[in-house]
Amino acid sequence: MAIERKRKTRLADYGLQSERLLWPTKGPIAKGPGVFEREVESLEDALGLSTLAKAVAWAQTKSMWPDTFGLACCAIEMMSIVSSRYDIARFGMEAFRSSPRQADLLIVSGRVVHKMAAPLRQVYDQMLEPKWVIAMGACASSGGMFNNYTVLQGVDKIVPVDIHVPGCPPRPEALIEGIIRLHEKVQAGVPPAYDIRGVAS
Ligand code: SF4
Repeated sequence: MAIERKRKTRLADYGLQSERLLWPTKGPIAKGPGVFEREVESLEDALGLSTLAKAVAWAQTKSMWPDTFGLACCAIEMMSIVSSRYDIARFGMEAFRSSPRQADLLIVSGRVVHKMAAPLRQVYDQMLEPKWVIAMGACASSGGMFNNYTVLQGVDKIVPVDIHVPGCPPRPEALIEGIIRLHEKVQAGVPPAYDIRGVAS
């Protein structure tokens, strides 16, 4: 026997107490929903109900502006994501900002030498919350082939990293994959890395 499943989309199904729920539905004074009430029900069926948090997360992923911050060869690959071939404008992200105060995303593209560590942390500190960090390439993630005293062995030693993109250099497609994964995390409600690690920003 086929089981009939009713879609649970009406506000009344979620517990909203409205006048029509108080109407008696049995007995001599029973009266059903009027035309207006039925129209409201069909409108509720047609509407997509969401929470404010989900709407904010969606908006954040559609306007996540990266900071203009290139360090080495990986930066050349990063720059190309704004070109017409890769078109990061599809995500509302084509506006690389020259001021960290206007940026939400720090893409660390290249090796970080110790001399550059303090300025990088300063740029990160000047970004407003919420903010995210992508470590792009082997050098940013782990020092890469530069296993020596001049290069920081992973940018996560000085800033909390949300996404690591592997490769040397990662192609622009790989960086876009990392950006999409970051968007998925934000839309799923995963807090930024500095919140998870409890790192004061
Ligand atoms: S990962 Fe490769 S391409 Fe990127 S900065 Fe290091 S050496 Fe250059």
